[in-house]
Amino acid sequence: ERLKAGLQKTKEALIGQVNTVMSVFRKIDDDLFDELEEALIRGDVGVATSAKLVEELRREARQKGLKNGDELLPLLKELVAERLGSGAAPLRLNEGGLTVILVVGVNGVGKTTTIGKLARHLREDRGLKVVLAAADTFRAAAMDQLKVWGERAGAEVVAGPEGADPAAVAFDGVKAARASGADVLIVDTAGRLHNKAHLMAELGKIARVLGREVPGAPHETLLVLDATTGQNAIQQTRLFKETVPVTGIALTKLDGTAKGGVVVAIADTEQVPVKFIGVGERLDDLQPFDPRQFVEALFS
Ligand code: GDP
Repeated sequence: ERLKAGLQKTKEALIGQVNTVMSVFRKIDDDLFDELEEALIRGDVGVATSAKLVEELRREARQKGLKNGDELLPLLKELVAERLGSGAAPLRLNEGGLTVILVVGVNGVGKTTTIGKLARHLREDRGLKVVLAAADTFRAAAMDQLKVWGERAGAEVVAGPEGADPAAVAFDGVKAARASGADVLIVDTAGRLHNKAHLMAELGKIARVLGREVPGAPHETLLVLDATTGQNAIQQTRLFKETVPVTGIALTKLDGTAKGGVVVAIADTEQVPVKFIGVGERLDDLQPFDPRQFVEALFS
């Protein structure tokens, strides 16, 4: 229900427009498909993915001998579901050992908030003990905010002095997690994009230190993206994929944006599974992403 409410604007923008096209044209012809493609692109599904969807829709409609525009919607729903993939991609946990989750993303996308929500989810829904490491040492405010979220979520927060070596904070995080017998360590990182080489060096060093201390770490590298930025989220995904091996995406602020169609574009073109979605500002407003539920909420 939370998902349905959160997706309301996306639904209006995307499915609303698609429905308008279908009801205006009624008859299935090239004009309808062209308009449909435009509607999908406006709904942030992305140029390439929209073209693919319409191509498939055209083929299926021909095969099935459909004549009427409103017969296309259930077909589109199935095709979108296919693009999103069949099942939910679970968080990779290091069974029997400390799981390390590295969280990356541009400042302002909701990284700190997402870490707090994730900590709550792991603790309350899965019974895991969580430690947070504030390795975004560049922003004192980010460290303070992480402490607040950690307190709310019931997770210990390890932070260094402002300007400390982020890799050293990550190292301290591992030590603290081990000392308290934690199951999961979540490492926050800086998201300054102005210098890609610097960012790459910093994230690379953090990952190396984590890998040296914990076999297989980081077990998960979550990229946090802001859904309200629409197609920019795709650009950010490409940039971060060149920087670190991203294993999952957390897409924030799906509530209140009309640009949720970007989920389909990301899933289709980026080969990185969306693992979580943010649907509000509260601690429990993070949901594991379930493609089926998403499609149902969008098309229902
Ligand atoms: P950071 O700079 O990436 O760490 O971003 P923050 O975690 O500080 O979040 C930036 C703003 O986005 C804050 O006002 C959050 O409350 C808000 N925010 C984060 N996630 C969501 C979400 O899923 N929905 C909404 N509506 N707001 C969110």
